[in-house]
Amino acid sequence: MTDCLFCKIAAGDIPCNAIASNERALAFHDINPVAPVHFLVIPKRHIVNVADIGEEHQQDMAACLELVRDAARKIGVEATGYRVITNNGRDGGQEVMHLHFHVLGGKRLGWP
Ligand code: 5GP
Ligand code: ZN
Repeated sequence: MTDCLFCKIAAGDIPCNAIASNERALAFHDINPVAPVHFLVIPKRHIVNVADIGEEHQQDMAACLELVRDAARKIGVEATGYRVITNNGRDGGQEVMHLHFHVLGGKRLGWP
């Protein structure tokens, strides 16, 4: 999608602080971290959010979760644990309309 921030990051047109990638997904540090570890995992293909996931996205979703696992291991929070969040739509507080998984860790997280 041409006018999408995360599509541009996935394409390398806008820089990011990348952690790791695989064929279908990219992990990079959030620009405004809310925890000592806060990175995002996105599918390289444009998918709006969970509501937009279709049959054709099965490999993209598997790749995203595999990259959550691999990037968390690489960044050093596998042993201590982490939280995976995806905000969906207005009530979920989604601001960037390209599916992304927040990965938070590095401290004991509260629960709302
Ligand atoms: P949302 O509110 O849509 O779930 O989360 C969007 C996230 O993207 C926010 O945590 C925000 O800090 C992050 N973000 C927005 N613009 C950029 C950017 O240009 N680069 C990076 N690395 N993160 C961004
Ligand atoms: Zn996009």
